[in-house]
Amino acid sequence: MMTLRHRIARTGRHELTITSVFPAGMDYIQIPVWRPGRYERGDFGQYVRGMVQRTDTGWTPLRKTGLHRWACVPTEGSVEVQFHFTAAQLNAGSTWADDRLLYVNPVNCLPYHDDLTEHPVEVQLPDIPLHWAIATALPHMSDSENGVFLMANGTQELMDSPWMAAPEEDLWHGEYEVGGHPFHIHVWGRRNYEDAAFVEAHKKFTESQMAAFGWLPVPQYHFLYLFPDFPSRHGVEHEASTVITWGPSDQLTHADGTASEGLEEVIDIASHELVHTWNVKRLRPAEWMPYDFSGPSPSRMGYIAEGVTTYLGDLFLLEAGVIEMEGWLRRFEKLLTRHLWNPGRLQTSVADSSFDTWLDGYAIGVPHRRGNIYVEGAVLAFLCDVALNRAGGGWLVDALAELAGPDQPRALTEDRWWATLERRAAQRGQEGAVEMRQLRADFCEGTEDTWPELVDAMMHQGIEAKLEPHSDTLARCGALCGKGREGRTEVKVCWPDSPAWQAGLRRGDVVDSTTEENQNLVVEWKRDAVHVERATLPVPRGAGHFARPRLAAFPG
Ligand SMILES: [Zn+2]
Repeated sequence: MMTLRHRIARTGRHELTITSVFPAGMDYIQIPVWRPGRYERGDFGQYVRGMVQRTDTGWTPLRKTGLHRWACVPTEGSVEVQFHFTAAQLNAGSTWADDRLLYVNPVNCLPYHDDLTEHPVEVQLPDIPLHWAIATALPHMSDSENGVFLMANGTQELMDSPWMAAPEEDLWHGEYEVGGHPFHIHVWGRRNYEDAAFVEAHKKFTESQMAAFGWLPVPQYHFLYLFPDFPSRHGVEHEASTVITWGPSDQLTHADGTASEGLEEVIDIASHELVHTWNVKRLRPAEWMPYDFSGPSPSRMGYIAEGVTTYLGDLFLLEAGVIEMEGWLRRFEKLLTRHLWNPGRLQTSVADSSFDTWLDGYAIGVPHRRGNIYVEGAVLAFLCDVALNRAGGGWLVDALAELAGPDQPRALTEDRWWATLERRAAQRGQEGAVEMRQLRADFCEGTEDTWPELVDAMMHQGIEAKLEPHSDTLARCGALCGKGREGRTEVKVCWPDSPAWQAGLRRGDVVDSTTEENQNLVVEWKRDAVHVERATLPVPRGAGHFARPRLAAFPG
């Protein structure tokens, strides 16, 4: 079987020239439409220019037959194509090139063919000098003449194995071992924290995850960090690695040297991404097994892929002692706030919202249309976790560990997921299975309000959950505001059928003033930021809208 070859040269700031060699007779080449970890179109063809193929007469421009597909011209021998790629994005899923850093997510920029996915692949980085370090899960070797060579055993592994290359002094490397597996930490950018403590936190959550799952699906694992000077917070899971960006890097530590919320956030993301090694990389929604990069791949199981991972990522930090109970409660309060303040969860189920990430799942989207797979999925995961435990069926992580076991099929279906939860919940009797079916009907397929169920589940965990009225009376009336352009107060979310909604307020309207009079709130506002309006809203009794969830452990 012929080895497919890619050569990636840095031909200027933000510029790559990519040359790829495929076997004779190739009819087309394809650039991926999306990347694993982001369940929406990435349309990477938009970064490609000047696609040509080597022929007897020189380089021949290729004709497109699809937005991300080019027809090859018939030739005698192997097919060699070349193009330019603009590498000017620095987030956890992108590709970047300048004179101090080459960071490549191959699924952004490498061409492939559906019939050749089993062929081994070699990537040559001709201009990476010997004194540069490289961080990647792919096996690699350096050669003083020809730069660096990376090897992948097929297209799926190649596309899911990013790398960073930089001068040795710019790429910090640390290592620890858990269960006989080496775990590597590579950091590009400023490390405004204590290295030893950073590694120790990783080791702790890794140990607790390894203990829960009982095995690691890959021989070793790599954390690839980019800490730039500009704002960024993003993580992407890969087969045997993750890329995490967080910035600005000087905010990773407080001025007095103590760990900041920024550093906590980095560790939160890292724990989440490592959980993906079992949930999504090993056990994966059937629609993504294998990944089809040629077009959208909607799945109704985003709430398992991202919701369960979000929930467990934080729980592992608690179990590992990286955070205390108080820290977990504050994190879950934040999650519940996002959950409760999104009216879209009462409109579109989290299963349907999973399918729809391909439409608008990573954008703000139109008001109250859908749920968020991370947030609503994590709340559902918590409810399932408590229901399982109440029924004597262990914990949610035990069910996941069973499904993601080394002898289990990798493709997950909704039925297999829920049948496993139901079977485990039926340990002591059918009531457990009935409760699990009800959770699925109400909060996965359905759009019921979770709050009563949450209060009950929290109580079972020894936690009191209460709602505190929002300090802003207009929010209680249904219009949640935030900062808009030029310091204006703008409506961000208007709760359907609330007093504010009835008065006509909608997202984007500008609020000039609010005055409480008796049981009413007088609001002066500008419709569409232009037309002056005045409305008198009845202030709801009780917590009203946008109430804040407060969690506290019961004493003892
Ligand atoms: Zn994730």
